Amino acid sequence: MTNTTQDDPASTRYYLTTAIDYPNGPPHIGHSLEKVAADAVARYHRLLGHDTYFSMGLDENSQHVVKAAKENNVNLVTWTNRMDEAFRLAWSSLDISYDRWIRTTEEQHFRASQEMFRRAQQRGDIYTSYYSGWYCPNCNTFYIGDELIGGKCPNHLSLSPEWLEEENYFFALSKYSDRLLAHINEHPDFIVPAVRRAEVLGIIRQGLRDFSVSRLVRPGVPAWGVPVPGDEQHVIYVWFDALTNYLTAVGFPDDTATFVYYWPADAHVIGKDITRFHCLYWPAMLLSAGIPLPKQVAVHGFITLEGQKISKSAGNSIDPVELVDEFGADAVRYYLLRNLSFASDGDFSRAGLVQHYNDELANDLGNLLNRVVTMIKRYRGGAIPASGQPGELEADLQRVAEDTRWHAGAALESWDIGTALSITWGLVRRTNQYIEQCEPWKLARQPGQENHLNTVLYSAAEATRLLAIFLAPYIPSASNRIRSQLGLKAVSNAAWVREGTWGSCELKQVADGSLLFPRKENGKGG
Ligand SMILES: [Zn+2]
Repeated sequence: MTNTTQDDPASTRYYLTTAIDYPNGPPHIGHSLEKVAADAVARYHRLLGHDTYFSMGLDENSQHVVKAAKENNVNLVTWTNRMDEAFRLAWSSLDISYDRWIRTTEEQHFRASQEMFRRAQQRGDIYTSYYSGWYCPNCNTFYIGDELIGGKCPNHLSLSPEWLEEENYFFALSKYSDRLLAHINEHPDFIVPAVRRAEVLGIIRQGLRDFSVSRLVRPGVPAWGVPVPGDEQHVIYVWFDALTNYLTAVGFPDDTATFVYYWPADAHVIGKDITRFHCLYWPAMLLSAGIPLPKQVAVHGFITLEGQKISKSAGNSIDPVELVDEFGADAVRYYLLRNLSFASDGDFSRAGLVQHYNDELANDLGNLLNRVVTMIKRYRGGAIPASGQPGELEADLQRVAEDTRWHAGAALESWDIGTALSITWGLVRRTNQYIEQCEPWKLARQPGQENHLNTVLYSAAEATRLLAIFLAPYIPSASNRIRSQLGLKAVSNAAWVREGTWGSCELKQVADGSLLFPRKENGKGG
C-alpha cells in the first residue's frame, strides 16, 4: 500500500490529466474508458478533500485532423469546433467532472509549446538534420516502409508516396538516456502498471534515438500547427506540441502562481499505445526545460467491442451518448470500470452490460436501497431509528465497512479500479446478507424485539449511507439518489474523510424516490 493519502490534510492538491484525443471523428466507447477511469480517481481525491484539478481536451494540431476536415468537406475551424462540441457532449453525458478543457489551438498553448521549444534550444538540445520517409501529399504525412500497403499510401490506395527528405529540427533524446533510466529505477511508481514500466526500460536498453520535432510547411498546403519560434517555414511536430498541453492546462507559461501550485502533475492517464511518448519523450523534454517531472504515468489497456478491435473501418464503434441515453451514465460507467484492468485489455459487450446492470445495479444495489427505505417506512413510519445495543453481526458489518473504506481507497490509489469497485461491491452484498440474517420482517412481528429491530434498521441504513460515499467515484448520480432517499444532501468534498466512518453522520428520515436501477430487458433495446 504505497501513496496512501486517505488521511492527508484537506489542503493537499491533486492534478491529473487524460490524454488529449485527435478530433478526426466523433468519440466512441473506446475513448470513454480512460476518461471514466480518470474521473473516478478525480472524484475520489475530491472526496478525500484534496484540491483536485482534472484536465482533458483535444489534440487539434495533427494532420489527422486536417485530413478529416478535408474528407468531410468543411474548413478546419468548422470541423474542429464541431468535434469540440461532440467530445464535450459525450463527456458531459458520462458525468466526467473535468475542471479544464484544453484545445491545442488555443493561443496560450501556442505560447507554451514555443516556450518549450525555446528552452530546449537554449539547452542545446535542438539541432537540424534530415528527416526522410515515404511522403503522401494527400495526407501530408511521412510513412515508414512497413506502413505502406503494396507501395501505396494506407489511406489512399491509389497513390504511391514518393521518397522525400526534408531538413527538420531534432530533439536530442539520446542525451537523456541515463537520466531517464535513473529516474525510472529510483521511482518504481513512475510508470504503472509494472508491465508498462518493463516495456519502457526495454526501449531504453535498445538505445534511444533523437526524434524530429518539426515539419516543413509545404507550398500549397495550409500551415496547421504551432510555428517554430523564429522559423515560420516549420511547425512544431504534433507530439512535442501535444505533450505540452499538460503544462498549458495549469497556466504555463503566463500564470506562474497557478503553475507552481499544481505542477508537477500527480498522474497522466494514458493508453498503452502512447507509453513511449509519455514515459520517454515527455520527461526528456521536461528535463531539458528545467521543469520537474510528473509523479506518475498510469497506463491502461484497450477495450474490444464484442470481441472485435474497435475501428472506424470495421464500423463497429458505439456512440457513448446513445448508450447513456439507453442505460444511464452510471450504468455505462459502472460496466466500463468493473471490466477495466490497467494491466490488460477488456471487452465491451451489450449482453455483458445488460447482465451486470440487472444482476448488480438493479438486484444487489437497487434492491438494497429499496428494502432499507421500505422497511423503515413500514415499521418506523419513515423515521430512521437510533441503534440499540449492537451485537456480533453489527460489529462484523461495521468492520466490513471500515475495511472497504481502506482497501477500496488503496486500490484506487494504485489505479486498480476494477478491484476497488469489486471490494466496494463486497459491502453491498454483505449488507444484503446482513438483512437476510437478521430477518427484520420477523422481528417486526415479535413482541419485545423493538430495540433489536431498531438496531437492524439503523445498521442497514448506516451501511447504505456509507456505500453512497464509497460508490460516489464510480456512479456519482446514483450515489446522490441513494443519499436523497436516506434524507441526506448530495455528497460533499472530503466526505470520505469526514463522514466515511460508522456513525459519523446523523440519519433522520427516509424520503420517497424512484427505483434506482429499473431492470432492463435482455433483448436489443431501441
Ligand atoms: Zn495518403
